[in-house]
Amino acid sequence: MTAKRDYYEVLGVQRSSSTDEIKKAYRKLALQYHPDRNPNNKESEEKFKEATEAYEVLSDQQKRQRYDQFGHQGLRGGSDYHTYTNFNDIFSQFGDIFGGGIFEEMFGGGQSRRGPRSTGEQGSDLRIRLKLTLEEIAAGVEKKIKIKKWKTCGTCSGSGAKPGSSKSTCPQCNGTGELRQVSRSMFGQFVNISTCAYCGGTGQIIREKCPTCDGEGREQGETTVKINVPAGVSEGQYMTLQGQGNAGRRGGYPGDVMVEFIEEKHEHFARNGDDIIYNAMISYPDAVLGTDLEVPTLTGKAKIKIESGTMPGKMLRLKDKGIPRLNSYGRGDQLIRIQIWVPPKVNSREKELLKELGNSEHINPTEEEKRKTFFDKMKNVFS
Ligand SMILES: [Zn+2]
Ligand SMILES: [Zn+2]
Repeated sequence: MTAKRDYYEVLGVQRSSSTDEIKKAYRKLALQYHPDRNPNNKESEEKFKEATEAYEVLSDQQKRQRYDQFGHQGLRGGSDYHTYTNFNDIFSQFGDIFGGGIFEEMFGGGQSRRGPRSTGEQGSDLRIRLKLTLEEIAAGVEKKIKIKKWKTCGTCSGSGAKPGSSKSTCPQCNGTGELRQVSRSMFGQFVNISTCAYCGGTGQIIREKCPTCDGEGREQGETTVKINVPAGVSEGQYMTLQGQGNAGRRGGYPGDVMVEFIEEKHEHFARNGDDIIYNAMISYPDAVLGTDLEVPTLTGKAKIKIESGTMPGKMLRLKDKGIPRLNSYGRGDQLIRIQIWVPPKVNSREKELLKELGNSEHINPTEEEKRKTFFDKMKNVFS
């Protein structure tokens, strides 16, 4: 084991930094070293762990105080090795970047979340990608999806033993399912706990295997999961359905289903945060004279008034017609960007009319009007 780095240094913050600044700093690192972005990269996994440990301490007033006063030694307290106590809190605080599952693997088994396990090996997580339309995102939706997964064996109820057969205590671990190794170092005593390989962590040896699952305690099957998608989710966000993943071997806890949201392209709208943007194409005469326009919204249609003398690029706003804010009140707006239709083809009569129009008094901008609209446009670009 190498000496630990200073927690403030790990997060790149000052000793006087606020909880908020610490949170921000951790968020940045967690995203950078996120295992999903750095698959099979030992170094970023270590960096990720290091940052998480630092955040766990510095985000907790009491621990931070102890650390400020006594350094790393101050955190050992009564226990002889550092325990990760707050990870569930941390991961739920940053629920949009963390799904679950993988983190518990990294931080040593599902113990923090599910309590000590009594039997077999924990099942793995399943990942699904869920496509949503903007309308579904705006309203929230319940989805049902069929998935193939390992299910608990119906014959032996997951024990892996032939019904009616007896089991005996594992001689390797004396029924605890764990092997403990104690080692000493200059930092104190460390206890390394690993799963007993002989019994697979169950603490028991099966005499006769269940014929259906051959002692595995699980079988392949299909199931329907129900996903309640809250209104306002975004592409790339995850939702975790706890305990609905693969059944564990021999009665182990099931894994989770991690649902990643995918936003389908909409025929009318583009999304910008909680706002949606609609391009309204109007004719040149309508822009000059003004008109009433019907536009689609996420919930139906709306009428808007186009004032006479409307320039292309003008933005109109339909209040509260956007996406509901996730984890907050209110919703975004629908923005309507006015665009002017230039016909690619006109007939001879139209051509005549346009030529005549082109030479009339107000059709061409004066020098001053050109300048003014140029600066107005620039203002819009930089605002
Ligand atoms: Zn079975
Ligand atoms: Zn054992």
